Amino acid sequence: MYDVLIVGCGIVGAATAYHLSKYDLSVCVCERYNDVANGCTKANTAILHAGFDCPPGSMEARLNLRGIQLAKEICEKLDVERIQMPTFIIAYDSEHELNYIQELYQRGIANGVPGVRIVDHDEALRLEPGLNPAVKAALYAPESAIVNPWEYCIAMAETAVRNGVDIKLNSKVTAIEKKDDHFVVTTASGVYEAKHVINAGGGWSAQVYQLVGGNDLYQTNFAGQYYILDKCEGHKVHSVIFPCPDEHGFKGVCVTPTVHGNVLIGPDCYEVPDGDHVGTDPATLETLKHEGHRSVPALDFREVIHEYAGVRPNTQIPDFVIGESPICPGFINLAGIKSPGLSSAPAIAEEAEVILRGLGVEFKPKAEYVDSRKRIKFRELSDEDKRALIAKDPRYGRVICRCETITEGEIVEAIHRPIAPTTIDAIKRRCNAGMGRCQGGFCGPRVHEILARELGVSPRDILIDEQGTYIITSAIKEEAAYEV
Ligand SMILES: Cc1cc2nc3c(=O)[nH]c(=O)nc-3n(C[C@H](O)[C@H](O)[C@H](O)COP(=O)(O)OP(=O)(O)OC[C@H]3O[C@@H](n4cnc5c(N)ncnc54)[C@H](O)[C@@H]3O)c2cc1C
Repeated sequence: MYDVLIVGCGIVGAATAYHLSKYDLSVCVCERYNDVANGCTKANTAILHAGFDCPPGSMEARLNLRGIQLAKEICEKLDVERIQMPTFIIAYDSEHELNYIQELYQRGIANGVPGVRIVDHDEALRLEPGLNPAVKAALYAPESAIVNPWEYCIAMAETAVRNGVDIKLNSKVTAIEKKDDHFVVTTASGVYEAKHVINAGGGWSAQVYQLVGGNDLYQTNFAGQYYILDKCEGHKVHSVIFPCPDEHGFKGVCVTPTVHGNVLIGPDCYEVPDGDHVGTDPATLETLKHEGHRSVPALDFREVIHEYAGVRPNTQIPDFVIGESPICPGFINLAGIKSPGLSSAPAIAEEAEVILRGLGVEFKPKAEYVDSRKRIKFRELSDEDKRALIAKDPRYGRVICRCETITEGEIVEAIHRPIAPTTIDAIKRRCNAGMGRCQGGFCGPRVHEILARELGVSPRDILIDEQGTYIITSAIKEEAAYEV
């Protein structure tokens, strides 16, 4: 019998598991995918927003501001890439845009966002020379940051596991039955019992809520596509740049650096039926080019190395949906966590604590709690440290991903971490192999081989990413030739 069972291991489920793992509680997380961070958490703009655009007085505004403060400490302790980076919302000559940045500024002040101000044409271009010179004025918010979103989630999930949390992958929750004083939760991997259930189902949170009879929450999912430019474009942008929203309130296509030194352009916004609609299409991507050039004219879209889409887990309710369900005592919704959900996640986890305390759960700090994590990043080491590492373990001397300089040692280390990656993309999210210009064209087969060897499975069982994404579907030569 678990004290708490969390449905979903995106950033919200992981932050909650991490937070609860500091206390003497038994916690389980059930995730339907074969890895954590595989929903909307892996496909967003990766900004820890400064907090100026949330409606004053909303839960979003309060949790965004608290969340980005907590993120500073968490990223430092758990070795997650996070770079402080200002945001610009740029206005050209239109009255609508100039009024809008004034309105955002007032909202920023009301929300208590530090350092937010309006800058004129000259100052905007001095602070961000990459901006379109036609900029008339801009809202400037220095307190935002960019982060590695999947690493942020993986780091908290791994630390939770190191502190006793059970994470069950491939475990889609299909039924939740309320007994007198506990829940019986049926999943694809087994049946579990828990005194409390937390719904952190992201773009599927309304469906998860329906499992206990919650019929008043509707997902209104909006997808957004992105382009990623190669690192050679990275020197052209040093800030997070948004245009003013259009008349429908859509934030607009952002241009931002990533923590890995690439440039990200996106997202746009269109309604889709559910969180699985993550395809891209040429017409939409073409609009990203146009919008990206409008903000930063020097961008060269011949340097595109990847494209992807994410689905915002919106509901019909304009704010986050956080609280105990009025129809099912002990069932807690952390639902409809749209943007700024990545920014707010650790603060949402604190809310979960407050709700659980209100239900009589005792929070006794664990005597032995491990709250640190360190990854070896070979290419960032000094020559001397590289030599010492290779002398200790020659696998660090074999570079597998040439674009990103990722060694066999790093890949093997990632495979043996508390949540074992079992797919090519899970390795990419753990240590960047395959993230570079060739997008895994060279290192993919080697990563495939290493995964099969370390996990002790046949190469035929290794997937690219989600369930069903097989790489080898049939033999074209003698099958034995492929056995490692
Ligand atoms: C295009 C886009 C841009 C964004 N940009 C930003 C940004 O820059 N900054 C920011 O702060 N926020 C941003 N966001 C929002 C942010 O990404 C989300 O708020 C956040 O990732 C939501 O996290 P989550 O854990 O609730 O959802 P998810 O990451 O989707 O996780 C939910 C998990 O629940 C699992 N699940 C669902 N149903 C079940 C079930 N029945 N059983 C088991 N598991 C289940 C899913 O598989 C999934 O892994 C953006 C979102 C999008 C789509």
